[in-house]
Amino acid sequence: MSGQSTIPWFSDFLGVAYRYYDLRMNVVPLFSERKKATNLWNETIRWWSEHSIKIRFVETGDDYWFVMGAESQRPQSNKSFFKILPKSEHYERFKRGHGGEAFLRLGTFSKKYKKDVKDNAECNCGHIKEDHEEGSDYDACLMEDCECKKFETFQVILLKKKKTITDIEFLQESQVKDDPLAWNCLYVNKYQKNE
Ligand SMILES: [Zn+2]
Ligand SMILES: [Zn+2]
Repeated sequence: MSGQSTIPWFSDFLGVAYRYYDLRMNVVPLFSERKKATNLWNETIRWWSEHSIKIRFVETGDDYWFVMGAESQRPQSNKSFFKILPKSEHYERFKRGHGGEAFLRLGTFSKKYKKDVKDNAECNCGHIKEDHEEGSDYDACLMEDCECKKFETFQVILLKKKKTITDIEFLQESQVKDDPLAWNCLYVNKYQKNE
């Protein structure tokens, strides 16, 4: 593929969220700071031609490689993205439900505690805030059989700008040789490193 091998690989982000929003599934690479996300959008993703954006999910056991790249109108600041992530419920839901299209947006990810959220906010244990003990130091979950000792939740904020992705594929590692983007990613970031 022309030029693919010269585009640097970027993996300095926290993970990927999958959310329904605006009728379509959103694929959301996550950052700790809004500024980092905004900069990356302005320097790189903004210049991507929408029809050329590709996302590949390469499954390797319980993990998968998130791989994303595109042709850019500003090749000198182009980047391709990758991250090795554990398969999650959200990932599986996206895999079943995307229907061949998704929105790409960037987002920020932060931890929230009981004082930061509304009564119906859901803890990472799956139970809502009201099901947790009152009090600032002790807020263990009161639901039977729940091991949760402290209310904690993750908040994802989506940035407004978005691009449409229509080239989405799920692959097994044995299939990457036939896919230039996925192959380049694993070649550079896995096989070459293990040589
Ligand atoms: Zn709980
Ligand atoms: Zn909890």
